[in-house]
Amino acid sequence: MKHLPAVVLIALGPSAITAASDYPVQPVPFTAVRLTEGLLHARQATNQLVTLPFALQQCESSKRVLNFDLAAETMRRRAAGETGFQNKPPTEYPFDDSDVYKALEGAAFCLSVETNAALAQQLEKLITHIAAAQEPDGYLYTWRTMHPDSPAHDWIDQRRWMKDPQLSHELYNLGHLYEAGFAHAQATGSRSLLDICLKSAELLQTDFGDGDPRIAPGHQVIEMGLAKLYRQSGDDRWLKLAKFFLDVRGRGGEYSQDHKPVVEQDKAVGHAVRANYLYSGMADVAALTGDPRYLAAITKIWENVVGTKLHLTGGCGARASGEAYGNDYELPNRCYNETCAAVAFLFWNHRMFLMTGDAKYMDVFERSLYNGVLSGVSLSGDRFFYPNPLEYDGRTANNHGHAGRAPWFGCACCPPNVLRTLASLGGYCYAVKGEKLFVNLYAQSEATATVAGSKVKLQQFTEYPWDGKIKLRVTPEKPGQFTLCLRIPGWAEGQPLPSDLYTYDDATPSEWSVQVNGKTLVLNGLRSSGRKSAPSHFPESVSRLTSAATLEKGFAEISREWKADDEVTLELPMPVHRVAGNEKIAATRGLVALERGPIVYAFEGLDNDGSVFDAVLLAAAKIKPERRKNFLGDVVVLNVTGASRATRKADGSLESKSAKLLAIPYAVWANRGLTPMAVWLARDAANARPPARPTIASQAKVTVSFNRSGMNLDPINDQLMPRNATDGFAPDFDFWPHKGTKEWIAYEFAQPTRVSAVTVSWFDDTGSGECRLPVSWRIVYHAEDGSWKPVTGASDYPIRKRDPVRVTFNPVTTRALRLEVELAKDFSAGIYEWEVE
Ligand SMILES: [Zn+2]
Repeated sequence: MKHLPAVVLIALGPSAITAASDYPVQPVPFTAVRLTEGLLHARQATNQLVTLPFALQQCESSKRVLNFDLAAETMRRRAAGETGFQNKPPTEYPFDDSDVYKALEGAAFCLSVETNAALAQQLEKLITHIAAAQEPDGYLYTWRTMHPDSPAHDWIDQRRWMKDPQLSHELYNLGHLYEAGFAHAQATGSRSLLDICLKSAELLQTDFGDGDPRIAPGHQVIEMGLAKLYRQSGDDRWLKLAKFFLDVRGRGGEYSQDHKPVVEQDKAVGHAVRANYLYSGMADVAALTGDPRYLAAITKIWENVVGTKLHLTGGCGARASGEAYGNDYELPNRCYNETCAAVAFLFWNHRMFLMTGDAKYMDVFERSLYNGVLSGVSLSGDRFFYPNPLEYDGRTANNHGHAGRAPWFGCACCPPNVLRTLASLGGYCYAVKGEKLFVNLYAQSEATATVAGSKVKLQQFTEYPWDGKIKLRVTPEKPGQFTLCLRIPGWAEGQPLPSDLYTYDDATPSEWSVQVNGKTLVLNGLRSSGRKSAPSHFPESVSRLTSAATLEKGFAEISREWKADDEVTLELPMPVHRVAGNEKIAATRGLVALERGPIVYAFEGLDNDGSVFDAVLLAAAKIKPERRKNFLGDVVVLNVTGASRATRKADGSLESKSAKLLAIPYAVWANRGLTPMAVWLARDAANARPPARPTIASQAKVTVSFNRSGMNLDPINDQLMPRNATDGFAPDFDFWPHKGTKEWIAYEFAQPTRVSAVTVSWFDDTGSGECRLPVSWRIVYHAEDGSWKPVTGASDYPIRKRDPVRVTFNPVTTRALRLEVELAKDFSAGIYEWEVE
């Protein structure tokens, strides 16, 4: 640390500190917090012991580190006079550099928490590879440097930066580099990576400092990275650049939130990771510049997400197409919900809290953390999810080409994002503003905070989230007056989210209580409820309960003179809640989910006789929580008796039989092999989905003319056909990024099969993607002579969006059928389902 300017380095942390003006609330840095036991501690320990070395090793074995070496070699040999020499990148994407930076950042966070000379040395060695790949003027982007004579990828322009608004990811890589450089300097005091960052930032200053060219970063994160460089150095050029990269937006499309000036944006649109990084960057610039317009915009956008676009698990970015936020209430259960989007959502929510001191942001943070983020990594620490759906059929390769959790990905953004988040988790537990000390996350831990100039030691004893009893021992270095603020979660007040997106069937607030040294101060916080869409957590009418404790923005505040070993006990009862989705969410109509405390539950086929979609969680069913210490780590499961199961009789009608069910925390699903999973179950038999009978199409082998990496073919014949143009959501298959081409999808049958009709539902993502209805399509069959012949007798091939179209033709008996399609000029196309009769 001694190498860094002391002026600005007041504290450390994922959102650390600060020159004169920054967030009004400051996190207690993660270096001052130690998780000591319990769920978060266990996941963090696995993160450090398994995920960290695994990620560093994957960066090597996947050749991401080699990219840096090949870039360095190219520079060296060309400098020595080999004019034609260049290297072909051995990895798949121009943004692969960023995974190395994120892994480095995660490693640095681990080093901040625990000294480890071998790891520190390993990082220094890795940094020498990065340094060698930096061009003399500071430019760092291995794909161009190793292949300078011509772009090595369609996404790269011959000129630097010019395709960043599209897909080059030059600035994206740098954003992650800066975050890593900041973390590494904080952790080790070494400037090795930071100097690379500053040299790069000087180049940005040269190339963009005068506001020209007006390049809007295609994938945000540079804004957060520059804010960290500003905090680290106090050099306001970096803050101005961060602001420039925000203000330059507004001349492109929604995909990268470039459709409007950022301060005029009011809805979450486009690619969800980009979006959440953007909103986090806007929060940073709002905090550092004091410009209220950014905060006004992200407050509106946050309300849009929490009011209409957030899954129950706290996952966001529902659409696979464009990895994007959907429309309002577009919350399908077979959704995308990239792990990175949930991680970025944590960053954004934490910043909103730091700006406002309002607990509702940490309520949402908690929901995402315990559910949609922790689901992204296996209990073993070395298997990952890219998408985090709320429903799975037990077989589809929906995880970027893998069925179930995968060890790594061609596009490996998610694993190191989880790594760096879990490594710095302690930094989200506590915060300080003036004389207020906030307790945001409940987890067994020890922390030292500085409150109003004096040190306070905090010890937290709890089995949260499995039990709602929390004991805090408060030990100020000398007796002193300050305010301890305990977050009273929205779920304890009978409200899953600070919006009407989800509701509990029984919304009665819990009878929670706070005691200080055995004396009850606050009891039964809020019987009078009514906080549904109130902007702050509690209505003002009930804010003052006793002279010693008040409720303020979702916190129970206890102001007193604290002395050594004062003990505070918070009891949050944890009844099991049945949850309903807002009626506007098509995918959850007639369905119910279970929650207990901050934990969202899921049902796996493995625990439920192999199937879950046919299960019915009747209102009369009894639900009993049970702590199982050696099951899936250590969890509370829910035993359900008096449920039922719907089966389909031969005539197609439904009958019910009684059933017992078992639910596990959503975050630990898919740790025991492939099996169906559902968060939402039917409330009655009419909404159950017993297995459909196999069809000609569902049993056929599917091949396609083009399949970009990771695209899953199952949607084509998964028997999820939209019923009409406005029906709820089904997964799609599309040919993107092919545009204007002729493509086909084929079904091969096990034996010659007589077919006479097909039904197709066409996909069109106008507004978020580049798929449109095709120009034309037709059905051809595999003739005995081996050729493909059009079927006859089909009078017309109608084309409608979503609404299924059925085409009959003269029967043919064939081994294979093809759907041929001509894509519209400049657009791609896709389908939801192709059924054959
Ligand atoms: Zn990702």
